[in-house]
Amino acid sequence: MTQFENLGLAAPILKALAAEGYSNPTPIQQQAIPIVLRERDLIGLAQTGTGKTAAFALPILHRLHNNRKHAGDRSCRTLVLAPTRELAGQIGDSFRTYGRFLGLSTAVVYGGASMHKQKLALSRGVDVLVATPGRLLDHVSQRSVKLDAVEILVLDEADHMLDMGFIHDLKRIAKLLPQKRQTLFFSATMPAPIAELAGQFLTDPERVAVAPPSTTAERVEQAVIHVDNAKKQDLLHALLKDKSISRALVFARTKHGANRIVTKLWDAGFSADAIHGNKSQSQRERALEAFKKGKARLLVATEIAARGIDVDEVTHVINFDLPNVPEQYVHRIGRTARAGQAGQAISFCAPDERAYLKDIQKLTKQDVPVMQTDFSLATPRPDERTPRPKPQGRGGRPQQQKRPPRHRSEGRSEERSDRPQQQRAQQDRKHAPKKHHAPDAHGHARAKQDGRQASHARDGEGRDRGDRRDRKGNDVWSNSGPPRRLNRKPQRV
Ligand code: AMP
Repeated sequence: MTQFENLGLAAPILKALAAEGYSNPTPIQQQAIPIVLRERDLIGLAQTGTGKTAAFALPILHRLHNNRKHAGDRSCRTLVLAPTRELAGQIGDSFRTYGRFLGLSTAVVYGGASMHKQKLALSRGVDVLVATPGRLLDHVSQRSVKLDAVEILVLDEADHMLDMGFIHDLKRIAKLLPQKRQTLFFSATMPAPIAELAGQFLTDPERVAVAPPSTTAERVEQAVIHVDNAKKQDLLHALLKDKSISRALVFARTKHGANRIVTKLWDAGFSADAIHGNKSQSQRERALEAFKKGKARLLVATEIAARGIDVDEVTHVINFDLPNVPEQYVHRIGRTARAGQAGQAISFCAPDERAYLKDIQKLTKQDVPVMQTDFSLATPRPDERTPRPKPQGRGGRPQQQKRPPRHRSEGRSEERSDRPQQQRAQQDRKHAPKKHHAPDAHGHARAKQDGRQASHARDGEGRDRGDRRDRKGNDVWSNSGPPRRLNRKPQRV
C-alpha cells in the first residue's frame, strides 16, 4: 500500500501527518497528490469524508514550502473557495494542522464575522486564503485583498456552490484571477452545469474519482421506517433507548422543525442541540463543539447548516424528514461512516414522503431495507401510487428538481448568497459608496440587513481574531514584521 513517504511530500508535512496519526493516504489522496505536485489542473470527484481536503492541502503546502516567497501586501498565493463558513473554517484548520511545522500563514474569511479583523489578517498578505465567495468579493470591493498573485486556486464542493447560487460570484472572481495558475476543482457530483463551470476554470485537467457520483457511501448501513408524521418524535425517542446510538446527526427539513425536535428531546431527557441558519455563528460553533466533545448526544440540523460538518465517530444519521432532493440523502448519510468507521443511517418516511424515498432508491440504485418498529406503518407495496406533495414555498419539492430548495432565512447562514442576485446588487450599490462610515461599519450594516448579528465580539474560538497563526498556533499578523496594526483604531475616511 502507498504510504505518505512515497508521495514525495516534504519532511515537515510528513511529521504533521504522523502527529495526526495518519499512516496511509486515502484513495483520493493517492491519486490526487502526485497530480497536484506535477502542477497540473485537476477535477476531483469525491464526497466529503473521503479525505479530499488533505488531498489538495498537502501538495499545496508542499509547493508553497518549496518555493517560499512573500505573497505581497493584501494578496494571497493560494485561494480556496468553499460554499459555507463551516467548511471554510474546517479547511483553514486543516491547512494549519498539516502545515504546523512549515510556518506558512493562513487566513479564513467568511460572512457573518468582522470585516475589520479579516482585513487586518489580510493586510500583509497570506500564503493561503480560504474564503466564501460573497465575503471574498466584499473584500475585493473594499480593496482589502487582490487576487492577481494567486498561484493556486481550489474550488471545493463546487456542486454546493452552484446549489447555493454562487455562480455569478464565481464568474466575477474568475475574472480577477491570473490566467496562469493551477486550478483544483472538487465536487461530489458532476451534472452538466458543474462540468460547464469546470470548463471555465480549468485548463486540460486530469481527472480523479473515488466514488461514482451519487452512489451511496458503501459502509453506511441503511434502513427506512414507514411512520406517520405525528409519530416521528415518539419513534425517535424509542430508537434512542439503544445506547449504540452514541453520536447521532438528526436531519430536519425546517429550522422550526429542528427547534421543535430539540425541545421535545430535552423534555424526554436526551441531550441535544440544534444547528441551523437562525442560530448565530457563535451558537453554531458552541453546538458543534458540544457535539464533537460528546456533551450533546444529538445534533439536530437542517440541510444547509449541516454542509461541511466534519465530526468523526458519528454513529448514526437519522433522517427525521426525508430530503426532497435525492442527492441530499447521499450527502447526509455520508456524515457517518467517516475515516474508515462503520455507520448507520435510519430514515423516517411518512406517507407523504414516499415519493422522495422512491427518488432516493432510483438515484442510489438500491432499495433501502425496511426496519419494523412498534411505530411502523404497513410497508407500502412496490406498485403503490405515491402522490407527490404539492410544492409549498418552504420544504416543498422544487419545480425543476435541479437544486435543493432555498430556505430564505436558513440560507442566511451561508453569508449573503441566499439573497436574490438583484436584491444583492442593490444592497451592494447602497453600501459601497458611503465613505463616511468606518470601514468595518459596512460589515455591520450588511450583517444587520441580512438578519445576521454583527458578531465580531462574539465569534470566539480564535477564528475571529483574524485567523493568522504561527507554527506554534499563536496568532500572528504578518509573515515577517511585528504586529504593526494590532492596536490601530479603524480609520475614518
Ligand atoms: P474530508 O473528506 O476532507 O472531509 O476528510 C474526512 C475525514 O478523514 C477528516 O476527519 C480527516 O481528518 C480524515 N482523514 C483525512 N485523511 C486521512 C488519512 N490519510 N488517514 C486517516 N484519516 C484521514
